[in-house]
Amino acid sequence: MRETLKDLDYVLETTEPDKVKQALLQHPKMTETIGAGDTKVSVELDIGIKISVDFRLVEPKSYATTLHHFTGSKEHNIKMRQLAKKRDQKISEYGVEEENGTMHHFQTETEFFRFFDLPFIPPEVRVDGTEVERITEETRFLSLDDIRGDLHMHTTWSDGAYSIEEMIQANVQKGYDYMVITDHGKFLRVANGLDEERLQKQQAEIRRIAEKYPEIDVYSGVEMDILTDATLDFSDETLQNLDFVIASIHSGFSQTEEEIMARLKMAAENPYVRLIAHPTGRVIGRREPYAVNVPELIRLASETGTALELNANPERLDLKAEHLEMATKAGVKIAINTDAHDTKHLDFMELGVRAGIKGWLTKADVLNALSKEAFRAFIEKKK
Ligand SMILES: [Zn+2]
Ligand SMILES: [Zn+2]
Repeated sequence: MRETLKDLDYVLETTEPDKVKQALLQHPKMTETIGAGDTKVSVELDIGIKISVDFRLVEPKSYATTLHHFTGSKEHNIKMRQLAKKRDQKISEYGVEEENGTMHHFQTETEFFRFFDLPFIPPEVRVDGTEVERITEETRFLSLDDIRGDLHMHTTWSDGAYSIEEMIQANVQKGYDYMVITDHGKFLRVANGLDEERLQKQQAEIRRIAEKYPEIDVYSGVEMDILTDATLDFSDETLQNLDFVIASIHSGFSQTEEEIMARLKMAAENPYVRLIAHPTGRVIGRREPYAVNVPELIRLASETGTALELNANPERLDLKAEHLEMATKAGVKIAINTDAHDTKHLDFMELGVRAGIKGWLTKADVLNALSKEAFRAFIEKKK
């Protein structure tokens, strides 16, 4: 799974390729036919943006190997082909061929991998070929079901679109055991950030509304700014009354590494900061990360027991995969959060989990995969 893509490829299994081809060519969103052969139809679709789409039409028996072939990556496929070669077999998009010409077909990709004595390798980690050796029968990737709560979201108290109660209801809908409401602090005036007085009022309001929803534990937190002069938006006296404090950078993106790291260090060392959100500040395709030294940040997080975020917003996916691996190796807990400003954004969690799989996250690495009781204990234990 790459972070961005430029076209879409679909593999369609069919015993009637002509009929399927005609139907595809009449698709109402199609703006241009690029090519229409017996096994491949290439079109341009207008789905809000114009995008090239290839449809490959294959016989059902070849579906799994075709899917594997076009999913890639190229390096992963090379590695698999080398593996086959050692066994005098040949992988193609149609199946696996023996030297004597016998062709093996598979119902699923799982069966395909099993044929080579491998467990299923998720597409997210099919990257450079090393995954083929690294994966074992014991590898258990994180799954969406493992996520028991969302720890970063906004309401109408700052720049979110929905009220506290609407956000609680949406989280109940998700089947979560717990959630944390984390509106912006006072520094972010453009986002209607909360000052000490409103923060206190909001806490009381959260407590009042949460009583109606015993099925979910609702914690009050804040997303507090780490200011450009390496101080925090709130004093420790204010922070100590909150259940869960997130610190993040929304300003001074052009500062030097030394300045940025001084800010992050101070935040990590603060006794009330449990999580640093979107730790590098990148916005995919639009904004480079600020000058953060990620290995150093991971060391600070590990020393201070501060968690780091995998922000699941598709424009952020921050931390990225290689940094997630680095962090979990250092024993740093990762929180996968949607940073929802809208109830619909809660759905980003699925993307977050997939981005986490890309970084080989397991349930044990993830703070919000803790059970309801374990998360409550984490909140109560403090830092
Ligand atoms: Zn933020
Ligand atoms: Zn946020």
